[in-house]
Amino acid sequence: MRILITGGAGFLGSHLSDRLIEQGNEVICLDNFFTGRKANIQHLLGNPRFELVRHDVIDPFKFEVDRIYNLACPASPPHYQYNPIKTMKTSVVGAINCLGLAKRVKARVFQASTSEVYGDPTVHPQQEAYWGNVNPIGLRSCYDEGKRAAETLFFDYHRENGVDIRVIRIFNTYGPRMLADDGRVVSNFIVQALQGKDLTVYGEGSQTRSFCYVDDLVDGFMRFMEQEKIVGPMNLGNPGEFTMLQLAELVIKKVAGKSKITHLPLPADDPKQRQPDITLAKSTLGWEPKVQLEQGIEKTIAYFKSALAK
Ligand code: NAD
Ligand code: UDP
Repeated sequence: MRILITGGAGFLGSHLSDRLIEQGNEVICLDNFFTGRKANIQHLLGNPRFELVRHDVIDPFKFEVDRIYNLACPASPPHYQYNPIKTMKTSVVGAINCLGLAKRVKARVFQASTSEVYGDPTVHPQQEAYWGNVNPIGLRSCYDEGKRAAETLFFDYHRENGVDIRVIRIFNTYGPRMLADDGRVVSNFIVQALQGKDLTVYGEGSQTRSFCYVDDLVDGFMRFMEQEKIVGPMNLGNPGEFTMLQLAELVIKKVAGKSKITHLPLPADDPKQRQPDITLAKSTLGWEPKVQLEQGIEKTIAYFKSALAK
C-alpha cells in the first residue's frame, strides 16, 4: 500500500514509518519539522519506498494513497502551548485536510487522538464511553479541545460522507527518539538523571500516568488500522499506573547516578490520574502491551545515553 503519515518525522511517526516500510509498504512522510527531526528518519532517506515532504498540514495537500495516518501535532505540553492558536489549527484544519483527501481518494484515515480528551478524569480507569472533564479555556485546551474537535470531524465525515475512519486515543507513550528537551516527563527525568541533575517532579508527585512503550503502541496502531470491525474511538496504552514520584525513583535507580528529587509547581489543569481501560483493544485486536515500564525505561535510557554523547 501507499501510506501517508502526517507528522512522520516525529517520535511516533518515525517508528511507524519504520514498521510500515519493513512490511513492504510505500510511505510518504509529511512534516513541518516543528517537533520532528530529519535525524529520526535519516536512515530511511535513501529507501526507494520512502518519500519525505516538508509541508504544513494546515495547507491543503494531495497524494494518491490507500491509507492516511494523521499524527501531525506537537504532543508535549511546552510545545503545544508555545503557539496555542497554531496547535488548534493543526488539529482542526489538519483533520479537515486529511479527511478531505481521504474522501477524494477513498483512503482509510486514522486519527491519533489522545487520553487528553478525558481531561482531568472523574472516572477511573477511563473507558471509551466516558465523555471527559476538559477545561475549555485553560492552557491545555488548545490541545485537548483541538483533539476533541478533530474527533468530531472524523465522526461527521464518517456519518455524512462515508469516509472510512479509525480513531485511536493514545495514553502517554515513551521511548527512543523522544526529544531530549521535549518537556515530557519520561524524557525530562532520564535526561536530568544522565546529566547528574536533580529530577523535577511537578507538585507533590502523587499524580499518576500510565506509560506505554513505543513498540507496543505502534503494533496497536497497525492492528487497529487494518481491522474491519470497528472505527473507534479505541484506547491504546499500558494500564500499569504509576505516580510521578515512583517514576522518578525508578529512573534514579536505573541510571544509578547522584540525582535527587526536587519539586517544582504543578502546571495548571494537570490531570491527577490517568489509566486506560483497554478491554476494547484486547477483545477487538487481541492486543495488549508486552513491555513493562522497567524494561522500557532501560531501553530509553540506553537511547538517551548514546544520543547525548553525540
Ligand atoms: P512529536 O511532537 O514527536 O510528533 C509530532 C510531529 O508532527 C512532529 O514531527 C512535528 O514536526 C509534526 N507537526 C506538528 N505540527 C505540524 C503541522 N502543522 N504540519 C505538519 N507537521 C506537523 O509527538 P508524538 O509523540 O510523536 O505524537 C504524535 C501524535 O500522537 C500527535 O498527534 C500526538 O498528539 C499524538 N499523541 C501522542 C502521545 C504520546 O504520548 N506520545 C499521546 C497522545 C497522543
Ligand atoms: N511532570 C513532572 N516533571 C517533569 C515533566 C512532567 O513531574 O519534568 C509531570 C506533569 O506535571 C504530569 C506528568 O508528569 O503530571 C506527565 O507529564 P507529561 O508532560 O509527560 O504528559 P501529560 O501531562 O500530557 O500527560
